[in-house]
Amino acid sequence: MYDIITVGAGPAGSYFSGLASKNGFKVLQLDFKSEIGIPNHCSGLVNERIIKYSGDDLVLEKPEGATIFTPQGSIELKNRNMVVIDRIGLDKKLSNEAIESGTILSLNSRFIEFKRENNAIAVYYQRKGKIEKASTKILVGADGPASNVKRNLGISGPLLLPSIQFDIKKRDSNVKIWLNRKKIKDFFAWEVPQGQSSEIGISGRYSLDFPYDLLSNYPKIEIFRKRGGLIPIGKSTLGVPGIYLIGDAAVANKATTGGGLLGAFKSAEYLMSSLNKTDTLTSYRKLWESGFGRDIRNAYFLRKIIDKTEILYNLWYNTFKFSNKVINKVGDVDYPEIAAMAILDISIIYAPILLKYFISDLVQIHNYSKR
Ligand SMILES: Cc1cc2nc3c(=O)[nH]c(=O)nc-3n(C[C@H](O)[C@H](O)[C@H](O)COP(=O)(O)OP(=O)(O)OC[C@H]3O[C@@H](n4cnc5c(N)ncnc54)[C@H](O)[C@@H]3O)c2cc1C
Repeated sequence: MYDIITVGAGPAGSYFSGLASKNGFKVLQLDFKSEIGIPNHCSGLVNERIIKYSGDDLVLEKPEGATIFTPQGSIELKNRNMVVIDRIGLDKKLSNEAIESGTILSLNSRFIEFKRENNAIAVYYQRKGKIEKASTKILVGADGPASNVKRNLGISGPLLLPSIQFDIKKRDSNVKIWLNRKKIKDFFAWEVPQGQSSEIGISGRYSLDFPYDLLSNYPKIEIFRKRGGLIPIGKSTLGVPGIYLIGDAAVANKATTGGGLLGAFKSAEYLMSSLNKTDTLTSYRKLWESGFGRDIRNAYFLRKIIDKTEILYNLWYNTFKFSNKVINKVGDVDYPEIAAMAILDISIIYAPILLKYFISDLVQIHNYSKR
């Protein structure tokens, strides 16, 4: 009988398993992959606070800055604290640390289902074509955006936005973001420099062909790999007594940017601190709701507004033209809501000038609704 079975050996699962093993829990970790970290779907763009988890040696790039393209024009941002980390390296490093701390890792092991049996949880998984069974006191779903542990709990959602990414020969050291609700209705496109190469990507339900348009404008660009992933958008769900969710499985990522590494680490830390409490779930919920969960909630709220109208993009763009100091002071890739709200605050100062942009937006929306 294990104390904990963790499903998933991404950053959330491996970091959590390592912490739990260090704290004396007997941990079995399952992942269907045959090699940790591969395939990778993540751009690795984070605030440098993630170096605490990755170490300096996994930093691939410190981008010079970021250019945000909107239908109205582009905005140049300075880089305060953005770095790009080697995501495959991060997964491998965290997994090695977990194993060194005592976690038993079983690769090629696909979680199928769990069943409650007396005082234990029976976990069924497929390995080399055979169904195997292991028993545990606690089950942790760290199995990513399309979590089967979560589905097995009967919890539906979240919305999963598909993404497509192209690895290309590096063009420059600037991050580029395209915000355009006509072409990319419900998310955005990006280009992220990653050391020797750059990644062009997009996520959204409707417009995955945008990078093809973009790339056709640069016929000399050499594409050497295509990949894809899923970004969960929705409210966080932390599980039920005895069965807990962390990382993307818990929707611990930002609905504004899709960024989920910090949420993966925070949720793992909160769950770890709650394991020895009499009511683990209540403690985990409290830590989440009063900590990083609040930022995740705000990001989801902001996403719902952004998805409805172009107004916020327009307001941000136009406000930024009047004062670019604020966003350069508070810009943080892990907490984009802070910059978004700061711009909204200063937009009040410029309200009389900005009003004309708002009025033209409202006229556009009015005309559109009458079509
Ligand atoms: C296109 C894209 C770009 C991104 N860019 C960034 C970025 O720049 N910065 C950032 O902070 N975040 C980014 N993210 C988000 C980030 O990748 C995720 O938040 C992060 O990977 C979450 O870690 P996790 O451990 O919860 O899940 P995952 O990394 O998805 O790991 C889940 C693991 O569970 C395993 N698994 C799944 N199902 C089963 C099963 N049934 N049985 C056994 N094992 C299973 C998988 O093989 C996987 O190893 C991006 C995401 C996407 C899709």
